[in-house]
Amino acid sequence: MIRWKNDTEIDALRAAADLVSRTLGEVARHVRPGATTRELDRVAESFIRQHGGRPAFKGYGSARNPFPATLCTSVNDVVVHGIPGDEPLGDGDLVSVDCGVIVDGFFGDSAFTFAVGEIDDDRARLCRVTYESLLRGIEACRSGNRLGDIGSAVQEHCEQAGFGVVRDLVGHGIGRELHEEPSVPNFGRRGHGRRIREGLAICIEPMVNLGEPDVTTDRDGWTVRTAGGSVSAHYEHMVVLGTNGPEVLTTFGHVEAVLDALPYTVPAT
Ligand code: MG
Ligand code: MG
Repeated sequence: MIRWKNDTEIDALRAAADLVSRTLGEVARHVRPGATTRELDRVAESFIRQHGGRPAFKGYGSARNPFPATLCTSVNDVVVHGIPGDEPLGDGDLVSVDCGVIVDGFFGDSAFTFAVGEIDDDRARLCRVTYESLLRGIEACRSGNRLGDIGSAVQEHCEQAGFGVVRDLVGHGIGRELHEEPSVPNFGRRGHGRRIREGLAICIEPMVNLGEPDVTTDRDGWTVRTAGGSVSAHYEHMVVLGTNGPEVLTTFGHVEAVLDALPYTVPAT
């Protein structure tokens, strides 16, 4: 069942989205060759707690194998759900940083793929196209459209560029739960799937591989990698469907303010 959001709930989501966006901006200050993902994780956790929130991912999942950290840090061929560790980031790496927070009972969730130092042209193009596909998906989030319109917008943009859109993981509704209905696939058929309307609050999060779309999960039960070993990129925004169309609750503005160079081109507004 989709929990359609009223204005009060959307305001609460806005506050959570603001904190998660500012946290990614804080993390951005620390992404550089030689930094470890564990350091990034510590930065994020203290920032979230200092600003009245709680990490949403820490302890998430089954009691037997809860996620152990505040951030998912996914380097190169890791698609998502990478566990922060002590391996230093290297020049030319891609690291996707996915962050979740809880503020006053509502969840915030956003992800950004950072270029570490100088990345090669293939990786730069992968980041740009993945980011653009997120914008295409957001644009398709309109009353009367269907979920397949969002998915197909993302998919077509990435596949035209020759990249593989991951099928095994999808976007989701968000609210008082981190993952609510509906599932928001990054693939689909125009005009198919569930109809959407005002009050929808979702995370759109294309996960896109330089090569084939297939993925595997490590024995740690979390780390999802490309099956073919190619690198992968991931950007995620929280989007609410309002009277005037899609409103993006999260922003990469805090990240963009910190980085010397972006892994994508910011579209003119
Ligand atoms: Mg996320
Ligand atoms: Mg998400």
